[in-house]
Amino acid sequence: MRIGHRPERDKRVTTHVALSSRALGAKGIFVDTYDEVLEGNIRSVVERFGGDYTIKTGVSWKEAVKDFKGKVVHLTMYGQAVTDALPKIPRDEDIMIIVGAEKVPAEVYQRADFNVSVGNQPHSEIAALAIFLDRFTEGKALYSDRHGKLTVVPNERGKTVVENPE
Ligand code: SAM
Repeated sequence: MRIGHRPERDKRVTTHVALSSRALGAKGIFVDTYDEVLEGNIRSVVERFGGDYTIKTGVSWKEAVKDFKGKVVHLTMYGQAVTDALPKIPRDEDIMIIVGAEKVPAEVYQRADFNVSVGNQPHSEIAALAIFLDRFTEGKALYSDRHGKLTVVPNERGKTVVENPE
């Protein structure tokens, strides 16, 4: 759940929040402000590179949290240390991760099941989300097969892209 998205100012950052979360194992993203360009860009990546990642914009965080069955993890530099939080977050439930843009409403801190910091320095929602997801999935999402039309094959030098038959 990405909150505080402003389509003009944040288009690149929110696109990268979505792409990074997809690459690192998330199943989808909610964005609080309606943005059809963003939706189109992310769906185009999914169409080419595979997986079942979904995007929905114009979703209020309060509604999303109310309807969500699982644990809510809010990433904030003020939260408990990621190393302390990880063992407490259940593995047999879905999790919703909330990241902000500018100031996050105080209610988010109250509503979250876990307020988690990725270091105690201010940095970025993209970095926080990527590090948290990589630790949560123990790195397993990085090279998981998405069965896309295109597969990039790791290569020491040069680019190897395989076009898969449909
Ligand atoms: N100053 C804002 C505030 O007080 O909420 C934070 C702005 S920061 C540019 C945007 C988002 O990045 C935050 O809402 C949070 O989700 C994430 N973030 C930044 N630093 C973080 C850290 N050290 N640990 C976890 N999340 C962080």
